[in-house]
Amino acid sequence: MTPASVVLLPSPRHDSLYLGLASAAARGGTCPRAKVGCVLVSIGATHMVGLPPVRRVLAVGYNGAPRGLAHCVDVGCDLRNARCDRAEHAERNAVYNAAAVGAATEGAVAYVTHRPCWPCFRALVQAGIRGIVYQEAYGEEDPRLVETAEALGLVLRQVVQELPSPAPPLFTDFYDIDDEPSLGDWEAGGTS
Ligand SMILES: [Zn+2]
Ligand SMILES: [Zn+2]
Repeated sequence: MTPASVVLLPSPRHDSLYLGLASAAARGGTCPRAKVGCVLVSIGATHMVGLPPVRRVLAVGYNGAPRGLAHCVDVGCDLRNARCDRAEHAERNAVYNAAAVGAATEGAVAYVTHRPCWPCFRALVQAGIRGIVYQEAYGEEDPRLVETAEALGLVLRQVVQELPSPAPPLFTDFYDIDDEPSLGDWEAGGTS
């Protein structure tokens, strides 16, 4: 199986991981009109037979004003035609963030909390993204996305299952609760 075909296959583990990261990134958004997050993940060949392709996070993005400019949460949205014209969208910010550090986006997959708008879709296509995995619909469906994805052979996949909420604490298995000193022990220990 070539790495290119991997994104065609739903993978609950990777969908959960990367959409979870996108969801976390969305929380950084500074435009109150939308909390959207995007994670760009490269899928490369492995050098060892039998191992799955290597996935790496290239960049993340969320909705917000360009670096150095005032943010909507501080000065309000710049509304033009009922849309905020100050905040850049998460998907394009992810592409720009990758460009800023020279991370190649060719052949990568975009995990997005919401279905991209048409301008973001165009940006992802031009950045060489070959798969878009998103969780939620956003506004009215633009038929150009599906039509263009089919024409270009780009994967556009919605993950409909509910993603797990934030992971339980780590190390639970290694932590013997009986060894934990009780508050009484601490108090009895005093400072001596
Ligand atoms: Zn805004
Ligand atoms: Zn957009």
